[in-house]
Amino acid sequence: MKSGATRVDVIVIGAGVSGLAAARQLVDDEWSVTVLEARDRIGGRVWSNRAWSGLALDMGAGWIEGDEDNPITEIAEREGIETVVYDDDSEYLYKSDGTEVEDDEWDAQAARFERVMREVDALRKQRKRDGQPDLALQSAIDQVLARHPMTPEQRQAFDYDVTREIESDYAADSTELSTYYWDFGDGFDGEDRVFPGGYDQIPKALAKGVDVRLGHVVRKVERSDEGVRVTTGQGVFEADYAIVAVPLGVLKKGAIEFVPALPGRKRAAIERLGMGVLNRVYLRFPRIFWERDAHGFAVIPRRRDEWTEYVNFAPFVRQPVLLCFNSGKYAREVEKLTDEQTVAAMMQTLRGVFGQDIPSPTAHLITRWSMDPFAYGSYSYMSVGATPEDIEALASPVDDVLFFAGEATESEYAASVHGAILAGRRAADEIDEADEED
Ligand SMILES: Cc1cc2nc3c(=O)[nH]c(=O)nc-3n(C[C@H](O)[C@H](O)[C@H](O)COP(=O)(O)OP(=O)(O)OC[C@H]3O[C@@H](n4cnc5c(N)ncnc54)[C@H](O)[C@@H]3O)c2cc1C
Repeated sequence: MKSGATRVDVIVIGAGVSGLAAARQLVDDEWSVTVLEARDRIGGRVWSNRAWSGLALDMGAGWIEGDEDNPITEIAEREGIETVVYDDDSEYLYKSDGTEVEDDEWDAQAARFERVMREVDALRKQRKRDGQPDLALQSAIDQVLARHPMTPEQRQAFDYDVTREIESDYAADSTELSTYYWDFGDGFDGEDRVFPGGYDQIPKALAKGVDVRLGHVVRKVERSDEGVRVTTGQGVFEADYAIVAVPLGVLKKGAIEFVPALPGRKRAAIERLGMGVLNRVYLRFPRIFWERDAHGFAVIPRRRDEWTEYVNFAPFVRQPVLLCFNSGKYAREVEKLTDEQTVAAMMQTLRGVFGQDIPSPTAHLITRWSMDPFAYGSYSYMSVGATPEDIEALASPVDDVLFFAGEATESEYAASVHGAILAGRRAADEIDEADEED
């Protein structure tokens, strides 16, 4: 490798939780490590916005998803970071005209959804046994629905369940998700928890004592027998090993040049795996006009996917703040609206439910993750044709010099903060092993 560049044992590219978890473990094991981060902050898709003084509102990840045995629970407890249980049993469900869906109607709707999804599961097993190709989840759902005629109202409620239970979780439309693998992977048991003081306390804890260089956009990664040479907008860095912990969306865009090019199997995996979109819109109001004690509510929309899922932040931040999520193609559509148009569209739904007299918001915060040049999306999903082998290919080291982390490389827990942390630790272990064999 050419001299004159800063040299360490390991360069980590990306100071999201995955890169930071890798760096943390390596630093604790006495490796010299430099983390190169494009943004002017750490945390990546864990980002707590403090623009509204006194509040920390999460623009990326919001929940510890299942607190039992979850590595985030362990970090939060060790660091004394406050978390609060999110009680989804307290949620309300409304029709778009504001009529509340009563419990028995809601139960019947849920039972219809579960029955259809059980049959979709049977259909996929049958197709796999018959050696048929993958198809979009919505096509499989449509085949099953053909056997279960529904009234227009029941169908609207069913589509709402698809948005809420599937598309919002996987950040992609059912027309984009693989029937074979959309729900591939695992989760943790226990309660879901939020961070009233901001999720960014987790990356901050991981980053303690780690050399992180902010504002360093990596453009090129060259590898050779002597190690890695990484070119940033602010100089060149060299190391024996590098961990690439940038989002799948960034790899898909080809924003980083790899020399020599990445192996074909890895490039095919980058292309096949999907990068989904889930966006948040926060509105701050002069007063609460929704159920004060419920942690959230949902609206069965007139047009599928629109302004469906709401979180009441009042119990967590003691302010009249509402959050709404949009996912998949609709989220991409909303990203193209101006802030004013976005707020007006959300208010139209809220006025339909709560009446024309509700107050206008006094402030808003809006994410546009698919346009973010250091993410190009919210998190990965299994698109039609993608398989678990693609995740393995994405994760696999190249020439025992380049290692890969990030949520999309985690085979059991992708698309989550805990998955990103576990992937970072796995990459750090792989470097240890490669070094021992050397
Ligand atoms: C809206 C939303 C809601 C979510 N909700 C949840 C949730 O409730 N619970 C949950 O568990 N997960 C959730 N997630 C997913 C979770 O946030 C991610 O899986 C996780 O944070 C990914 O971490 P990471 O380290 O893999 O990637 P990132 O956090 O994206 O880190 C990658 C880093 O690489 C940097 N980078 C990119 N390009 C370059 C470059 N060229 N040079 C240098 N640095 C670069 C980025 O700036 C970034 O800091 C959510 C995500 C979003 C967006």
